[in-house]
Amino acid sequence: MPYSETIEIKTKSSHEIVNITWQVNAAVKKSEIKDGNLIVFTPHTTTAITVNEDESRLIKDIENKLLDIVPKGQGYLHDGIDGNAHSHILASIIGCSVALPVISGNPVLGTWQSILFIELDGPRNRKVIIQII
Ligand code: ZN
Repeated sequence: MPYSETIEIKTKSSHEIVNITWQVNAAVKKSEIKDGNLIVFTPHTTTAITVNEDESRLIKDIENKLLDIVPKGQGYLHDGIDGNAHSHILASIIGCSVALPVISGNPVLGTWQSILFIELDGPRNRKVIIQII
């Protein structure tokens, strides 16, 4: 039977990376599913999910580089509505979910891989949905 869980994240900055690996690992344990697939999904248009290394300097590098990749206020049409077109564009580029294999009761991640939630228009209260099948 599929298992689903929603976790809540309270972000503190406009652009922020939060390591959610431990919450995902806990959900997989609770599911009691030993072998299957895991999806981690964020239901917002200005947040993203990725898998990468949680090394503090690298995290800062990524957070700082986001606004160089898609700078704020470049005459985007959507900015006339709520001024956050750059956040939507970054969220679209990075993506709203990751899928991982679950083997022997654990999500499969490389030695240096962590599951990272990316806030792109904070601070806000956010949700992440974890489903294991
Ligand atoms: Zn918007």
